[in-house]
Amino acid sequence: MPVSALDTELEWNSPMYQLAVAQLDKTAERMRLDANLWTRLRSPQRAYVVSFPFRRDDYQTVETVFGYRVQHLLTMGPTKGGIRYALDVDLGEVTALAMWMTWKCAIVGLPFGGAKGGVRIDPDSLSRRELQRITRRYVSEIVDVIGPERDIPAPDMGTDEQVMAWIMDTYSQQKGYTVPGVVTGKPPELGGSLGRREATGRGVITCAAEACRVLGMSLEGARVVVQGYGQVGSAAAAIAAQHGALVVAVSDVEGGIYAPQGLDLAAVNRWVRENRFLRGFPGADSVTNQELLLLPCEVLIPAAAGTQITGRNADLLQCRILAEGANGPTTLEADAILGARGVFVIPDILANAGGVTVSYFEWVQDAQKFFWTEDEVNRRLIDIMRRAFREVHALALREQTDMRTASLMRGVGRVKEAKRRRGIFP
Ligand code: NAD
Repeated sequence: MPVSALDTELEWNSPMYQLAVAQLDKTAERMRLDANLWTRLRSPQRAYVVSFPFRRDDYQTVETVFGYRVQHLLTMGPTKGGIRYALDVDLGEVTALAMWMTWKCAIVGLPFGGAKGGVRIDPDSLSRRELQRITRRYVSEIVDVIGPERDIPAPDMGTDEQVMAWIMDTYSQQKGYTVPGVVTGKPPELGGSLGRREATGRGVITCAAEACRVLGMSLEGARVVVQGYGQVGSAAAAIAAQHGALVVAVSDVEGGIYAPQGLDLAAVNRWVRENRFLRGFPGADSVTNQELLLLPCEVLIPAAAGTQITGRNADLLQCRILAEGANGPTTLEADAILGARGVFVIPDILANAGGVTVSYFEWVQDAQKFFWTEDEVNRRLIDIMRRAFREVHALALREQTDMRTASLMRGVGRVKEAKRRRGIFP
């Protein structure tokens, strides 16, 4: 008798969900949030769990796969959020990510509520054909709950531009006409926005530059360490280097590379194109992902998995600024330690909001069938990120609190006002 992979208790009991709820609880208490609203915000408004068969390339092997789409808040407009393919995806993790999307959109002022999706599968185990097959089947399972006016997916860990193109195609095939606005992060040929690929990284570095300004430092010449050399991490590294920063270490799931004098990023990119992983890159020392977090640097950018900086290693971090490209990289315990040590933390819901901001631009361009130049996209993105950083920082000073609490207060506060205005149906 096969054991079902769906165990309701385990499904919710994820460290990321506990972290997201604990952050909300702390903020709600401080804001004296209405108890009913507080309860509503702790759980998603809608959560879909699907299971489906998936055939491997050898044709004989068939696996049962679980997929999710969670819509945390439907108050502000359609819901918006990425799709993650990873082995540890469960309902709790996807819900945490959806909740963070709600705060993120509210902080930068986008007309969306938070959502997130995921498929529990190891993306590194998939051939290109398998990746396409699993994507098309997952999309047909959730086709009724997504749509340009309903819920708009985007890339996240394990998914990219090509996966977004397949999502758009599958959805369009089922509707019978082309619907570019159902997904963002598409290739520009299909209605994707210029600048979307680098948007999250650009937002992270815009915030890091703002933090440098606040601390009286310069990003030029600063040492930068990046965990996770994917869509977010590689763009953040490249843009940091354009600002004159020295990118000294980067990593992927297999480990990292470290060169105290600075990495040649063009050579790193060539190596990754040819070898897929960073391992073996010549001219740099290899480090584990845990060692990488503890390297001496001015700016540390986690841009991979969640709960990386915990009570166990927060004391040992040597950075001055922690700019969270990843979602949920820092536990509450670590937050307290970093705060006491004077590390300037730019929280995920602010630092990585550049991705959803340009996704919003893409959705607007698709609706208007009128496309902007890359310069225009980048300029508007930098304006929005700078303004959001400065407003959150001013709130943090006024409330004498840290940037995470101030960001959450701003996000939760905006949602609270919108909910109050809409009232209760019926
Ligand atoms: P990606 O799949 O493009 O890249 C992820 C990178 O991290 C890869 O290099 C992978 O090898 C590495 N990695 C995976 N697991 C790891 C682990 N346990 N330890 C160290 N490295 C590991 O993903 P991405 O889209 O760049 O997303 C990275 C993070 O940024 C995620 O937390 C995601 O939620 C967040 N994020 C992404 C976007 C976006 O626009 N893509 C937007 C906001 C936030």
